[in-house]
This record gives sequence, C-alpha cells and structure tokens, in this order.
Amino acid sequence: MRNPKLALSIAIGAVAVAALAVVAIVRGHSAEPSQRSAAIGEAQQAGLTLSLPPPVIDRIYAGPLARGRPIVVIDPGHGGRDPGARSVSGQVSEKELTLTLARELRDALVERGRVRVAMTRDDDRYLTLEDRAAVSRRLNAALFVSLHMDSAPNPLARGGSVYSLSDVASDADAARFAAIENGGSAGAGTGSSVDAILDDLASRAQMTASADLAARLVSKASGRVELRPDPHRFAAFHVLRRADAPAVLFEAGYISNADDEVLLRSPEYRARLALALAQAIELHVATLAGRH
Ligand code: ZN
Repeated sequence: MRNPKLALSIAIGAVAVAALAVVAIVRGHSAEPSQRSAAIGEAQQAGLTLSLPPPVIDRIYAGPLARGRPIVVIDPGHGGRDPGARSVSGQVSEKELTLTLARELRDALVERGRVRVAMTRDDDRYLTLEDRAAVSRRLNAALFVSLHMDSAPNPLARGGSVYSLSDVASDADAARFAAIENGGSAGAGTGSSVDAILDDLASRAQMTASADLAARLVSKASGRVELRPDPHRFAAFHVLRRADAPAVLFEAGYISNADDEVLLRSPEYRARLALALAQAIELHVATLAGRH
C-alpha cells in the first residue's frame, strides 16, 4: 500500500471491528462459529500491521442449570491436514469420527446439565498437541478427554481402550501408540530444571486422578460397548501431561476392523459410547467436588 495514512486508518478500522466483534461475543456468549472466526480473522489481520496478539476466546457450552459448574474439555483427535487413521473401507477418516463423537458427547453433557463443556476444535482444523492442552489450562479445566480411533495391521484387532498418563507405558502396544500420537512433540514446552521438578510433582497427582478417571470410564463402558481385553492402559502422552488436569485418551475402537467401523459409524452405537463417557465424567466431577 502506497499511502501510509490510509494503511494506518485501515489498520485502526480493523482493530475496532475486531474489538466490537469480541465484545459482542463476550456479551452474547452464543455467537455462531462463523462470527467467531470472522472476529479472530480480523484481529489477526490487524495484528500483522500493529503487532497485536490475536484474542483467544474459548466457547463454553452449558445448559441453564450448569452455571459455575466444572469445565470438561473434549479434544477430538487429529483434524485439518492430519487425518489420523483411515478406515478399512476407505470411506471415513479418524479426524471425522472423533469430531462427530466429540459433538455428540458435548451435546449429551450439556443436556444432562451437570458440567460445562469446551472443545479444542469444532471444525476440521489442524491443532498442535500444545494448542489442545492450552485450552485445558486456559479454562482451568476439571477434566480433559481426548478422543481417538485406533488402527492396527491386524484386521481382527477391535474394541475400545482408555489410556491414562504414566511415565512408563503399560505394554509395548501402548508405548508405540503414544509415540505415534506424540508425533515428535514430546518435550516441547519444557523449561528450567525447577520447572521440571514442579511439573513432576504436579503430574504425580495428575496421574493418580487420571487413572481414577480411566477406571471409572472402563466400569461405565463395560458390557455396554466393545472393549479390548485389559482396556485400561498407560503411556506417556504429551497432550495429557500438558493438560494440567486429570486427563484420559479414549480410543473408541479400531477403524482398521470392519465390524468396529460399522459400529463407530452408527449413531446408535456412538450414543452408547457418549452416554458411558458422560456418566464417567459426571461421576468423576462429583467425586472431586466431594473432596472440598
Ligand atoms: Zn489418533
């Protein structure tokens, strides 16, 4: 742009539009996703000119009676340029199924009204593991639940499993799986050695709470949905560690297995999964509240 005055006034205009949009969202609290992304887009555009950081607004979903209730963050695995695993039929990818299940779980939790809900993504976008965990930290989440679908070379492998955070993997499978999901980003964000020690102390309590949550989820899901033998497994998941909250990663089933693919694509089956997840989440939150 040749005219610096014009450039400046356009930049100021963009900031004003972004600020107004942000105010409208904060007041309305129910802005459509399209409005949100427009506001964020405007602010980023202005930021290029005036070096303002883009505002971060996490949408919170809640029923009328859930005011002040704990926040549960649901994290649909993968997204955008990272499709995750491809189903055996080739018709669907992990990122689509995780988002569908996440929305259904969100709706079930909101309808039941015992917790508030946030999502790391509600569309087909790419997020780093750190982006996902940061949502949990920003909102001081009570729980963090990451949703995935498994895939294995053995086409007969099937059933869901629940992973909780641990320094040591429960088995070779869990270690391999964590390495894939960590995608080379383990260790990102580590600071000084003092930070590392504090992190370690915090993560002991976090690991225990995460294992409790996983055990509740297994007990709610047993007999109602397909589970692997020994469904509760442990591994060092970066996204779980950085969430700073009791956190589990739920593998809803194997999309490399034809029977599991049919189940995971069935709304009735997903409703059963969502109900089991919702009940385990609510039970865990009620237990946390009881300790205070
Ligand atoms: Zn995955």
